[in-house]
Order: sequence, then C-alpha cells, then structure tokens
Amino acid sequence: MFRVGMGFDVHRLVEGRELWLGGVKIDHEKGLLGHSDADVAIHALCDAMLGAANLGDIGHHFPDKDPKYKGIDSKKLLVEVNRLIDAQGYVLGNADITICCEQPKINPHIVAMQDALAWCLNCSAMNISIKATTTEKLGYTGRGEGIAAYAVVLLKKKSSDFMPYTM
Ligand code: MG
Repeated sequence: MFRVGMGFDVHRLVEGRELWLGGVKIDHEKGLLGHSDADVAIHALCDAMLGAANLGDIGHHFPDKDPKYKGIDSKKLLVEVNRLIDAQGYVLGNADITICCEQPKINPHIVAMQDALAWCLNCSAMNISIKATTTEKLGYTGRGEGIAAYAVVLLKKKSSDFMPYTM
C-alpha cells in the first residue's frame, strides 16, 4: 500500500542568522528566520511525510511557541517525523524536494543534503531527490526576501499484515 503527501514551507532571509538548508550549513551573508533553525527544506519534507500518513502538520507536532524547539536542529524534527510514520507502519519510499531561491546557489550542496537527510531517515540517498530553481527574480524568492521549498513523498506500508497502533 502506498500513500502520497506534499509539503510546502517558506522562511524569511535575514542578516545575523546561520543558513541551514537540507540539514547542511551553508556559508551565506543571510540565514533563515524561525523559531527552530528554520531549515525550510526539512520542514517541507516533514510536512509531506506527515501529510502522506494523515498525521497533521509540523506545527501541530512541534509548536513554535514551545521553548523546547527554540533553535532546534530540524534534523531532529525529521528523525521524530520518521519515527511517527514508522509507528503507523510506513517507511519512506522516496522524496522529491524543490528549493526555490535566487541565492545562494544550491547545486554544490545537493549531495551533502541528500546524505544528511538519508542519515536522518535511515535510507539510501538514492531515495532523496533535491532540486533547486530560481523564480526568475520574481516574487519574494526572486527578490531574495525568503526561501521556499516544496516536497513530495511516497510512503510504503512495511508489510500488508501490519496493524497500526492507532487508527
Ligand atoms: Mg518552517
């Protein structure tokens, strides 16, 4: 049995913050603003995984008012999301992520991002696709005001006779 999910996220680019994207720290004059490390690619991926399992969204599981998540490494959130879908009897089939920004250039970091996310998900990097696009200088991503990310995932049932813990 297969289930599909999609996720979308945006964070504002500001001075004085580290830039974390796809689980990797990138040298850049600006970083993403958020309660956590604001890793927009991981947040979109988490939402896609949660959506595929019909488990709500990332804000439901990790509220941005909770001091526990202040400055948290989003890789920890991804590990927890993977545990949640595992508890429902699912495993990631594959994920396809698109990052939209003008700067920095994403391509040199894609392999490191694939490795970081695959480590969190305990899967092969072959199952994690990361793509990047500009928006041709249009809109908030085009003006460099923020970075957006989209993710689509396929979840697979671990075995046909597995009964979820909650239903
Ligand atoms: Mg977010």
